[in-house]
Amino acid sequence: MDHVSGAVNASRSATLFRIRSLRVRVIVLSCLGTAAALFALVNLLALATPPVPTAPLRLSRLIIHDVAIVNPDSGGRTTTGQTVVIEHDRIVYAGPADATAVSLPGRRIDGRGKFLIPGLWDAHVHTLRLAPQLQLPLLIANGVTSVRDLGDTCSWSTSLSCVSPAGAWQRAIGNGTMVGPRLQEVVTYHLEEPPADGAELCTLLQALATRGERMIKLQLDPTIEARDATELLRVADSMGLRVGGHLPFTVDLASSPVAFVSVEHDWTLLPQCSRARASFDDRTASKPALLRVFDGAHCDSLLATMRARGTAYVPTHVASTGQDALFASGPPASMNSSRFIPAPQRMAWQIIRAAGTVPELEARDLIAYHAAALQLTKRAHDAGVVVLAGSDAIDPEVVHGFALHEELEYLVRAGLTPAQVLAAATTVPARFMQVDSVVGYIAAGQRADLVLLDADPLVDIRNSRRIHTVVFDGRVFGPAERTALFTFVEAQAHRLTIASRFLRCLWYGG
Ligand SMILES: [Zn+2]
Repeated sequence: MDHVSGAVNASRSATLFRIRSLRVRVIVLSCLGTAAALFALVNLLALATPPVPTAPLRLSRLIIHDVAIVNPDSGGRTTTGQTVVIEHDRIVYAGPADATAVSLPGRRIDGRGKFLIPGLWDAHVHTLRLAPQLQLPLLIANGVTSVRDLGDTCSWSTSLSCVSPAGAWQRAIGNGTMVGPRLQEVVTYHLEEPPADGAELCTLLQALATRGERMIKLQLDPTIEARDATELLRVADSMGLRVGGHLPFTVDLASSPVAFVSVEHDWTLLPQCSRARASFDDRTASKPALLRVFDGAHCDSLLATMRARGTAYVPTHVASTGQDALFASGPPASMNSSRFIPAPQRMAWQIIRAAGTVPELEARDLIAYHAAALQLTKRAHDAGVVVLAGSDAIDPEVVHGFALHEELEYLVRAGLTPAQVLAAATTVPARFMQVDSVVGYIAAGQRADLVLLDADPLVDIRNSRRIHTVVFDGRVFGPAERTALFTFVEAQAHRLTIASRFLRCLWYGG
């Protein structure tokens, strides 16, 4: 009996084992099947071309009357009782009300109690392939009519053969089949790793120069060997390529033989003002030591060099030390603007936010570091360095359009006057980019890029958000059109197609 019962038990456990392993196999296979089906579904959904909003038609004439024109230059001046006449895409008159201008036929906007500023610039944004559906309309709705695009999805070092969509966007924006700002500079190459040797570096830079790159953005490990970084700058310069971006800690900008076009982000400039620069590793624990040996005299000489060479400084506080300090002070309340962000991107931000809890001691260091960064921005501005307002939108929690207004507040906190800050987002970038004969001012002959505000931004820079109407290239985005843009982007952000395209971007880097 024992023998028989043993055999039965053995056969039962063998059967159970088979069932269990079969069950495991079924579970594994169904998980793999579900993942494959999801992957296929996402790819399939991503094939659909999402719609883009089109711009309102240009008017043959638009008259904004009885408005206060805000000129941010020379300390800032607001002149009331002004009239601005726009024909098609140009300003044809801007000045005191005169009988002829006021009596012209055309659409009219009553500017009483309102303030007119030049269209805003964001000097540091990034775009995704989804920009026409999400980011570009948000910029226009927020009054941002010109941007420097410091890198789109094509810009990574691994994608030399990738063709940037920016050219097609610019054409579509120009003819009104898409809503977006002027892409005044598009940087389509990020250098993330120095080539292995001099020959490889020359080949790469030659290829970039041949395809017509104007500027290469450095995004190297900031602790790169000084020799490698200097060689890179030298060769790029010899080929007529301009270099800007993240300034490595190993390079002393004050004595660099080659000028930078622009230094991006406060965290790359601040170490330059410390005697501990060369050995700085960017860890939070190293920041107090860096600040303890702050070298004011060297800092002033560095800033004088930047001014003399025309190197611009784009601190992007909102995405850099400002964001570190904000997170260090406790997780920010959820952003109103996050409803314009696709779900997978929002989730990625939430994960980063959850991982970024900062111990109290480190929090104090990050807050002190940000305070030093703000002081440096003021010091740079006082030294005559070109300071540009830029947001680094696409970084976590940095939303296109909205973030520029946040950066304006950071610049006021740094100690710049509202007029100086407004200039850093209008006239100064227009002059820096050498397009001030076209945009940046409210004057006859300029393209019609204007923002009509319900309150004076020179009294409180936060009034830059109180937008009534945006005029871009003569196209009028009044309250109804702006609401339509926000509604459109919010709807897009909740579409499966958009989420799928976003995931596809992450998978394929495109
Ligand atoms: Zn950036």
